[in-house]
Amino acid sequence: MKIKNYINGELVAPEAGKYLDNYNPANGEVYSQIPSSTKEDVEKAVEAAEKAFLKWSNTTLEERSKILSKIADLILEKLDFLAKAESKDNGKPISLATEVDIPRAAANFQFFANAITQFSSEAHESVGFNAMNFTLRQPIGVVGCISPWNLPLYLFTWKIAPAIAAGNCVVAKPSEITPMTAFLLGEICNEAGLPKGVLNIIHGLGPSTGQAIVAHKNIKAISFTGGTTTGAHIARVAAPMFKKISLELGGKNPNIIFADCNYEKMITTTVRSSFANQGQICLCGSRIFVEEKIYEKFKKYFVEKVSQLKVGNPTKKDTNIGALVSKQHLEKVKSYIDIAEEEGGKVLFGGNKVEVAGSENGYYLQPTIIEVFDNKCRLNQEEIFGPVVTIMSFKTDEEALTLANDVKYGLAATLWTNNLNRTMQFSKQLHTGIVWVNTWMLRDLRTPFGGQKDSGVGREGGFEALRFFTEPKNICIQYE
Ligand code: NAD
Repeated sequence: MKIKNYINGELVAPEAGKYLDNYNPANGEVYSQIPSSTKEDVEKAVEAAEKAFLKWSNTTLEERSKILSKIADLILEKLDFLAKAESKDNGKPISLATEVDIPRAAANFQFFANAITQFSSEAHESVGFNAMNFTLRQPIGVVGCISPWNLPLYLFTWKIAPAIAAGNCVVAKPSEITPMTAFLLGEICNEAGLPKGVLNIIHGLGPSTGQAIVAHKNIKAISFTGGTTTGAHIARVAAPMFKKISLELGGKNPNIIFADCNYEKMITTTVRSSFANQGQICLCGSRIFVEEKIYEKFKKYFVEKVSQLKVGNPTKKDTNIGALVSKQHLEKVKSYIDIAEEEGGKVLFGGNKVEVAGSENGYYLQPTIIEVFDNKCRLNQEEIFGPVVTIMSFKTDEEALTLANDVKYGLAATLWTNNLNRTMQFSKQLHTGIVWVNTWMLRDLRTPFGGQKDSGVGREGGFEALRFFTEPKNICIQYE
């Protein structure tokens, strides 16, 4: 099967006729091909978006909201079909795609369908000057959205929905590793009545297709989610052109566990925050710090629980851990297990590839727990982005806080405690964009989402996203 670009409401082949292979991670086989798009394809998409902009930006909020809601409804109607497609493309368990990825993609559209009808701007009266200021929040024009492979439709729509809700037209690129559900979204948008050219989806590699989007002079803002190195490169290209950028990048998140927490809830959630989606979520708690008092107990129970997780074919309903997204990624993740051994880390569980009967060439790895003794080790400093977590003990609050903050990333942190003072102290002093206390990945879409330090610039979510996708303009009127 050949995937096509979605430009001006139509599914079209790439101008140069070049394609890339797309693999099924569950069995390592090529099952489709995607356009290897060039500058010319991006140019056509930008032209279509520019042509659609005037009308779309003047479409009433009610009408935009109705179309976004319709897209959400159609995604839910096709939930099973889309979940199967996502699971096959990415290797994630079908249960996860059905319960999390696809419903969230629908929720993204529904949320911004509602949010845009409530979005307003400020007025400032200049008292004593007979003057009134009000802020216009105008759509930017044509914007670029670039997303990664770990939560394909979930993150793709997290950018597109606010961008079009705010009245922009979009040129978007999903990851070349997981293009399928983005491809399917094009037809859904047509069915929902989204006018031609409002959304354009271009497939291809980052350094060529992605680069052409970032460098295009008529694309005025870039919303990017992906790796930190890529984000830094995008910032370098976009900065001299004075584009607005929002960068959601890598993480190396601490999961800090105190003896006074609700132990049962903590251990069940920690299994999930460590290994959900094969550990390939930017929010996963990959560095687990446990208070010394309960360290030995935790080690024993955690290993026991993790050993019960079933690694298997993603299509099977009882699979907990599916395949990693690609052969290259599997090798990268696996290499950290070797590094751990060189660095004096102790593998407490896992560490090996898994052969799944009937899918022998799939990219499977055991969930892996490594005990480390120095937070400066590469395992605790570098993003692995797979089913590998480290554990380490601490004695005091101060030590836990220092360990948690001693890393270049600053996306999210999880804290397990029932002590209110500690909760407040950590919440204020953790250098992260998000802190979860006694829970993990509980998402309210109104809240600001994003990271500090090398985890990015800017915030998505709620009105933050609508602010990003609009240009504020102050109007000052003096009256007599
Ligand atoms: P990646 O940076 O390799 O690719 C992300 C996207 O950028 C892809 O679509 C890719 O084609 C494109 N791209 C690559 N080079 C480009 C370039 N030079 N110009 C323009 N586009 C380019 O990341 P990935 O491997 O797909 O995703 C994994 C990373 O994403 C991890 O680091 C993870 O932490 C991060 N992530 C962050 C968040 C967050 O919200 N902070 C969420 C999910 C994933």
